[in-house]
Amino acid sequence: MSGPDKIVSLRGDVAEPASNAGTDFLSDLPLFEPGWVWLAGAGPGDPGLLTLHALNALKQADVIVYDALVNGRVLNFANPAAEQIYAGKRGGKPSIKQRDISAKLIELARAGKRVLRLKGGDPFVFGRGGEEALSLVEAGIPFRVIPGVTAGIGGLSYAGIPVTHRDTNHAVTFVTGHMAGGAVPENLDWAAIAKGSPVIVLYMALSHLGEITQLMLANGRSQSEPVALVRNASLPDQEVLETTLATVMSDVELTSFKGPAIIVIGDVVRLRQSLDWLGALEGKVLKTDPLNLRGEQDAG
Ligand code: SAH
Repeated sequence: MSGPDKIVSLRGDVAEPASNAGTDFLSDLPLFEPGWVWLAGAGPGDPGLLTLHALNALKQADVIVYDALVNGRVLNFANPAAEQIYAGKRGGKPSIKQRDISAKLIELARAGKRVLRLKGGDPFVFGRGGEEALSLVEAGIPFRVIPGVTAGIGGLSYAGIPVTHRDTNHAVTFVTGHMAGGAVPENLDWAAIAKGSPVIVLYMALSHLGEITQLMLANGRSQSEPVALVRNASLPDQEVLETTLATVMSDVELTSFKGPAIIVIGDVVRLRQSLDWLGALEGKVLKTDPLNLRGEQDAG
């Protein structure tokens, strides 16, 4: 179809009657062909954050290879006949090596299965999705990538924290706190990040948070800088710890705060007083003017 024709249909001139809209939303989505691997993100947990492409994949897959951070309720959408293979690296179950996961995907695709590789969040954000896709390319296996809502954006939204806000930051940095070997990444210029990035979102960082906090303070961040930790973001047992760089480590200890947690450092955390929409559903009273801008204007 040529470009202009497409625009006509996008405008809705040839749209289906509205009565179809509620039930038939998967029908225009791609057919999952045997022998393909679809690499999909499942979002941070809440099944409502699945994309339609991910849902379409769940409905058609013959086999689903899923990670530890994929919510079981998401798997409930799968075709009941589909085989489900756990490929997680936590939760007390035997851990499976990355190389073996890629080999498994290739083997299943070569056996003519429709293979859904389902990962928490977005497959290309600290999810090793790129590595798996590269091994599919090498093996000549056709694949599709389905992005997901990443914890560092969607998970923080569920805590009422926007990753950018015009009055606080025009940039944000996503960082992993954890290398394959378990250490704090040394090839990162932590000083540059501390000095240059107003908001820093940390994945897999809970076990190195003490070290990271010290690096922040040593490179000019203030003791009073707000920090939030969100555990099980978007799930019914979501927990949020709001603290500061000075107190984060003692608070983590005091509350025995456990992962998986997404961590954010920066002034955007202050917006939570006003934007914690989930808290508001449970009766929390939202404040106005969380950044005290009106106060400053009055003073000025
Ligand atoms: N691909 C994933 C990230 C995988 S790395 C994504 O895009 O979200 C795993 C890390 O992601 C965890 O250690 C934690 O920091 C973060 N994470 C993923 N899901 C989370 C959730 N529901 N709540 C809090 N943190 C989460």
